[in-house]
Amino acid sequence: METENLIKEIETYLPFAVPEADRASAAELVEKYGNDELVLRLLRDYYTALPDACEEAVTRVSEFSFKQDVHFIVLTTTGHSWLYAVTVDSVALIGEYGVDIPGEVPAEVMYFLGWGTQKEFHENCPSVEKLKEYPWKGMPHTHCPVCGVPVGEDHLLGCVVEVCPWCGGQLKSCNCRFEKLDVEEIETAEQVAAFADLLAEKGRIPFLPEQAPAYPGTSRGLDEGDKKS
Ligand SMILES: [Zn+2]
Ligand SMILES: [Zn+2]
Repeated sequence: METENLIKEIETYLPFAVPEADRASAAELVEKYGNDELVLRLLRDYYTALPDACEEAVTRVSEFSFKQDVHFIVLTTTGHSWLYAVTVDSVALIGEYGVDIPGEVPAEVMYFLGWGTQKEFHENCPSVEKLKEYPWKGMPHTHCPVCGVPVGEDHLLGCVVEVCPWCGGQLKSCNCRFEKLDVEEIETAEQVAAFADLLAEKGRIPFLPEQAPAYPGTSRGLDEGDKKS
């Protein structure tokens, strides 16, 4: 797997790139983004090239902007913040983030992002703390990872994440739908609709981040042709 190779490669460089005291936290961040090929390629580029020869561990990955398939990502290290442009097949260092050095940001990058002058560009750089952290595996969910509804809303019917209000199990796979309808099989759209009504009457359990599975599977909808197991 590509991500495994990237992790191995980064781990090989870490001892040369980062002071010993910071190595564990640097490795932790690599682990945090362990299934994100894009971020791992960026980290590999950073640790192999070390901008300005600063031997510093990356402490934060932030999202600056995303435009036309280019991710503008800020890598914050123990002493600096670097702005990168990352695509599916390239990584390019733009410069030190938020530091107003005339001529530092290439004109074509400024144009691409829609800013006319260096001044305008730097005025549009919020402090790193204000940037959103780049999403990682296991980050708290703002939306159901399977059906996409926001926190606090009812799932789309058939979503595997929805908790059954009768038994507390997984609504998609418990037997409550058959028991409530008193059938062995759900064969018609009318049965699905009747179950939806019963569910609404009982009161559905809305999406909460802690319900989200770490590795969401694909969902087959609650629909006709559903058999009691
Ligand atoms: Zn859902
Ligand atoms: Zn149930």
